[in-house]
This record gives sequence, C-alpha cells and structure tokens, in this order.
Amino acid sequence: MDSQIIALELMKIYGSSTSSLVRRLETPPKRLYARVNTLRATREEVLESLLREGVEAHPDDSISDAVYFEVQGPFKFECNASKAIVVDKKTAVSLMLGANLYRPGVIKITSFERGELLLAVSENYIPVACLEAALTHKEAMSLRKGLIGINRGSPYRAPRIAETKAYISGLIYSQSAPSILTSYALDPRKDELVVDMNAAPGGKTGHVVQLTSGRARVVAVDRNERKIEALTTTLLHLGLYLNVLPLSMDSRYIHLDLNLHEKADKVLIDPPCSNLGVRPLLGAKRTLSSVTSLAKYQRQFLKAAWHVLKPGGRLVYSTCTLTLSENEENIAYAVEYLGFSVAELESPPPYSDKVSYRGVTAYRFSPLLADMPGYFIAVLTK
Ligand code: SAH
Repeated sequence: MDSQIIALELMKIYGSSTSSLVRRLETPPKRLYARVNTLRATREEVLESLLREGVEAHPDDSISDAVYFEVQGPFKFECNASKAIVVDKKTAVSLMLGANLYRPGVIKITSFERGELLLAVSENYIPVACLEAALTHKEAMSLRKGLIGINRGSPYRAPRIAETKAYISGLIYSQSAPSILTSYALDPRKDELVVDMNAAPGGKTGHVVQLTSGRARVVAVDRNERKIEALTTTLLHLGLYLNVLPLSMDSRYIHLDLNLHEKADKVLIDPPCSNLGVRPLLGAKRTLSSVTSLAKYQRQFLKAAWHVLKPGGRLVYSTCTLTLSENEENIAYAVEYLGFSVAELESPPPYSDKVSYRGVTAYRFSPLLADMPGYFIAVLTK
C-alpha cells in the first residue's frame, strides 16, 4: 500500500519511468561523498592522508571541496543465521555498505552468543548484512556504545569513512553531493547574517562557515534540543564553531520570538520531508496524508522566512525528496501567496536538472539522470 502511494506521487513527475526510478532508489549511488574541511586542509592533503591509510578517494570534477569513495556491488550475500537483529534506518544503510554494527543503531535483539552469526534487518525487515556477534547478548545489553557485530557479508561495500583518521580528526565530513551544492546555492558571504532554519546535525551550517572562513554571522536553529547539542559538538570538532549561534527553538515562529525582522541576508530552509530521495530507500513508510501534512508543515518555514529575510535577500529551500507537493508546489506557493521571486542560478548545480513548474524554476537531482540521491533545490529572492 505504502509503496503504491509513493509510486503515485512519483508518477506525477516521472510518468512511465517511475518503476525504474523506484528500483534505482533501492540501490545506493556508486559514489559516497564527503566534504573536505577546507579551513583545516586542502583536498590534495586529504586525499594523500586517506591514501596513506590505504583508503582510495577521488576528487569530484565539479565540486571543488568534495571527494568521493567508490561503492562496490551488488554482491550476493548468504547468512547462515537463525537469529535476526533489527537496526534503525541510518544504521541499516551503513551496514548495507559493509560497516560494522555499533550499539546505538540497535533497535531489537534476541539472545545470542559471542561469535554467533546474526542477520541484520531494517525496521521493515529488509536483510541488510550478515554479522558476527562481537560479544554476548548480555554484554551487548549493558553497553551504550561500542562494537556489537562484525560485518561478514553485505550487498555493497564501501570504505568505512567514519573509521578513517581524516574523518576522526575532522578533515572530512560525510555529506551527499546535492547537500554540499545547497550551501553553494545559498552563496553566503562574509559579514552577512545567515539564518539556517533547520540546522541540525549541522552539515550545511558547517559548510556556510567554511565558505565564509567563519566571517558570516550564522543563526543555526533546530527545534530538537539534543540535535542542537550535537550540532555544537560537531562544529567544535571540525573547528567550524565560528560566529555561529545555535538555538534550540521552533523556527516556524522565529519572527515572533526573535527580533530578526528583515535582518537576514540569506535564509536556508532544509525542512523535514518524506525522504523519498534517500538512497538506498529501505521501504519507505509514507502515506499520502503524511506527504500532504509535511508539505503544509514546510510552508510554515517559508512564511517565517519571509518576515526574517531582508528585501533583496536570498532564500534557498532544499529537500531530499521528490514529491511535487513538498517541492515545486511549495515554491509556487511561496511565489504566488508570499511574494517571493524565483532567482535562477547562472548555471544549474552540477548533476541537477533545471525544472519548470507553474512559472517556477528549480533544480532537481533525479537518480535516473545522475547517479545521485533524489534531491531538490530552489532559490528565491524577496
Ligand atoms: N540542514 C541539516 C539537516 C536538516 S534535517 C544539515 O544539513 O545537516 C531537518 C531538521 O529540521 C531536523 O533536524 C529537525 O529536528 C528540524 N526541525 C523540524 N521541525 C522544526 C521546527 N519546527 N523548527 C526548527 N527545526 C525543525
């Protein structure tokens, strides 16, 4: 049922290619991207440092601060296991790419012995990897962090980026190419006031800091207090906690709560969405009503942004989903009802296609055209 609804939403845009699109969404892209922390190292230094520890990465031809790692597969994997372990969505994706299992990603476990094989499955029971238990069930239960299972078989393989020295020492940050390109579309400048309305975990906030060498004033808002703490920790770790004010609040009302009326030069809206562009898409649990209510929720950020943005200021709206209602239709609403104008970029972001809908121009990353996650970027001015 859910997948039918998703197919219907996607069919509005992708027509007869929808089934190939859905099949493509179920696989990871062949490239796994990371952003180089250019305030700490050059891309060449990072590539060399990775190579010294035996990890091969490549510079992206079109994005000057991006590197990518190649994903191998698909492989057939067999798992002679009689027990399963359920993991959260993010963990399922990394296990599928060959990562080991750590405690925080575990949702449900049955009892097992050290050395026993376990089939790791996603929350909707899609098998993602075969693991060898690194400790006993009892030991695992008492841990809050730490290694639970060693990956002994997975459908894809990619370098374990989070275990590299470059990652641990804050020289790179895992981020998809479209996400990296979002901050470029925002084009933040020194001395500007930038309001990031959905900031956590801080990927784009950190990039804004990087692009302005820490000289923009960034207000980083997220409703989730724990995620705002994590954002601060991440920015500190990367050395990018420069002129950033992290705030845990509901940014739909930011114009009422803070004295920001027409003060921002740039606003970024990267709201919660139906995530249909995330690859591999592990059986999305979305209904039409959830897409509709998400679209309504997202419009509230656009309304608040109107108050906060200076006349002449720039708004970037991005999502990692592909539905019309969360993307083009929301932008058409921002133009028709709020008064924003569409700002075309001189050249579309690399790997994206320029799309037109009800007089709105925007940029779509369509996994069928470039092997990227599905993603959407629109640029507006007030
Ligand atoms: N821009 C981030 C990713 C944002 S994900 C990055 O690049 O790393 C969407 C975020 O919106 C989530 O962290 C969620 O907590 C936040 N969010 C949801 N509702 C919100 C609200 N009403 N006000 C502010 N943030 C909100």
